[in-house]
Amino acid sequence: MNTVLLATRNRKKLVELQRILDTALGGHRIALVGLDDVDAYPETPETGLTFGENALLKAREGCHHTGLPTVADDSGLTVEALNGMPGVLSARWSGRHGDDKANLELVLAQIADLPDDRRGAAFVCAIALVLPSGLEHLVEGRQNGRLLRAPRGAGGFGYDPIFLGDGETRTNAELTPTEKDAVSHRGKALRELAVLVTRVLPPTD
Ligand code: IMP
Repeated sequence: MNTVLLATRNRKKLVELQRILDTALGGHRIALVGLDDVDAYPETPETGLTFGENALLKAREGCHHTGLPTVADDSGLTVEALNGMPGVLSARWSGRHGDDKANLELVLAQIADLPDDRRGAAFVCAIALVLPSGLEHLVEGRQNGRLLRAPRGAGGFGYDPIFLGDGETRTNAELTPTEKDAVSHRGKALRELAVLVTRVLPPTD
């Protein structure tokens, strides 16, 4: 069986990717491990200017230190009227890392005076796969939409309560997890990754 490192300490991400891989791969099994399952190595900060750069930095680092094929992701919100920001700074836009409420409120305040047709935004997720041979792959998923003026819904996380996807009447925070997976940036990128994995990792016993 192929062992693949997912460069994260987030157990939910491991379970999510394992589920999507198992569904997509059928008999071709992949065993995913996380950063807590391998010997610790020095992790450099995410200094890339794009989601893809950050994903590649983390995947290269993991592969270099463990010798395992390594997958890493980076994602966030890009707002047209803010020239693509918060972008790679999505998790810490308000200055406090992981404070979802403060981040969302700051974005709402920054575009408060903009009419509906200038509130376009997108969630983007980049996922890198780096192999010990040096081969590197990058896939990207995107969900286009626009930002509302006030939060709606209790599901999801981050900027979900103010994001209305194209063609949707409910915010991402009002969708069930399965509904969100079907349209989200992360769902799309993960499904593309599953296809890529079947192509680049030969089946083993
Ligand atoms: P990460 O790449 O999963 O660490 O996400 C970085 C940041 O982007 C999060 O802290 C959120 O603020 C934002 N973000 C990423 N994905 C989503 C999503 O699906 N919904 C809402 N916010 C998201």
